[in-house]
Amino acid sequence: MAQWIQLYKTFSAYGAAVSQRSSGEPQTGPHGAKAIIVRSMTQGLDDIPHTDSLRYKAGVKALPAMAISTKDANLLSQLLKDQADLRIYMENYAEMLPETQSYNVIGQLNGTFLPNEYIAVGGHLDSWDVGEGAHDDGSGYLQGIEVLKIFKLLNIKPKRTIRAVMWMNEENGGKGGKAYADMSKGRNEYHIAAIKSDRGGFVPRGFTSIGSAKLKQQLLKWKTLFEPYGLHDFDR
Ligand SMILES: [Zn+2]
Repeated sequence: MAQWIQLYKTFSAYGAAVSQRSSGEPQTGPHGAKAIIVRSMTQGLDDIPHTDSLRYKAGVKALPAMAISTKDANLLSQLLKDQADLRIYMENYAEMLPETQSYNVIGQLNGTFLPNEYIAVGGHLDSWDVGEGAHDDGSGYLQGIEVLKIFKLLNIKPKRTIRAVMWMNEENGGKGGKAYADMSKGRNEYHIAAIKSDRGGFVPRGFTSIGSAKLKQQLLKWKTLFEPYGLHDFDR
């Protein structure tokens, strides 16, 4: 099977391709490297670079690195073919600004039977610089709001409290999520699930989980409840 066929799962190809930009570690080849320029990690052919983050690993020589848009990458590729002695000048104004106050936004439908047990569902409010954030992650948190809306429209009273959460500042270290976890712990709340939609606003096909093996087993127990709705991928 061709390798690319195995990479249909969201982020498999992205994860494999992004390391040069995110770690500042070039595959230098025989000539060494002075800097890193990568094609934006996106399928879209446009003028908007997907810049994302760069963190130098310990011991790695810190080379300047930047992502350019897919259109610019095609142009650069062509220019390199046409001019073997092409020289490139890079100038980068990226900087870390001081932190500022921001907020998670939460709406909830109170549980009728176990109100202190929670299911949180949502996405993150912030987006990455030049992008508009429609899929990362506007559509994700809208899906959370839709959960509450549908329950209300159908007049379903949930047993447990359901929260639509718009987590703030996910892109810079998941800080809104951590603040939410601290708040929840401080209030002695018990969450049976916290679900984030953050892989594009399309039809959900399943879940990934970063919890313990025990929690993963719990998730798998619910698989049959989801399958009639087309959610089948619980394997990661
Ligand atoms: Zn996201």
